[in-house]
Amino acid sequence: MRILLVEDDERLAAGLRSVLEDAGYVVDHTADGETAWFQGGTEPYSAAILDLGLPTLDGLTVLKRWRAEGRTFPVLILTARGNWNERVEGIDAGADDYLPKPFQMEELLARLRAILRRAAGQATPVLSVGQVTLDPRQMRVSIEGVPVHLSPQEYRLVSYLMTHAGRVVSQQELTEQLYAQDFERESNAIEVLIGRVRRKLGGDFIQTRRGFGYIVEQPNS
Ligand code: CA
Repeated sequence: MRILLVEDDERLAAGLRSVLEDAGYVVDHTADGETAWFQGGTEPYSAAILDLGLPTLDGLTVLKRWRAEGRTFPVLILTARGNWNERVEGIDAGADDYLPKPFQMEELLARLRAILRRAAGQATPVLSVGQVTLDPRQMRVSIEGVPVHLSPQEYRLVSYLMTHAGRVVSQQELTEQLYAQDFERESNAIEVLIGRVRRKLGGDFIQTRRGFGYIVEQPNS
C-alpha cells in the first residue's frame, strides 16, 4: 500500500518514513503543500498522512482541494496539541482521523490501519481468504494458522490483494502500490513476485485474469 507522507519537519518525516516502511508501506514523502496537492491529485495513494502547518500551501487547503477534486483516499492529519478548532476544521474538511503532536509511532500505525480498513469496508483487523489469513498488526501471513515467511515485497503484494479481495487488480495498479515513485521498475517484476507468492501460498490463491490482472477470491465472512 502506497502512502503519501506530507511533513515539513525533516527529522519527524525521516522517523515516520522508516517506521512506515518497516510496517510494510511504500512511502512517498513531500515537505510542501503545493507538491502535496499535486501528488495527491495525480498518484494513486491508499492513504495520506498530512501535517497541517506546511510551507507554500497549508495542509487544510491541500485537503479541501483534494476533496473538491474528488480524491477519496483516507487522510490522517497531524495537528498541534491543544488546538481543538484545527482538528474540527480538519475533520469538516474531509480528514478521516487526526493525531495531535507529539504522538507515539504505535498510535499512528494503529490509526493508519483503522482508516485503511474503513476505506476498504472491513470491520475486523484480520483478513482471511480461504485458508490464508493476514494480520497487519504483526505483518503476519499464515495458512491454517501456520505462519509463512514472506519477504517485505511479497507481504505488500499479498496485503494489497487481500485488502481488495474479490476485485481484479491490474498489473499497473500493483506496480503503483508496491513501488515508490522514484523506483526503477523492472517490466516483469510483478509476474516474478506473483510466482514466488504462489509457491508459498498455493497455486490458486492468486488467480490470473488474462488481459485484466490478478484476483484473490472474496474474503471469508
Ligand atoms: Ca509543520
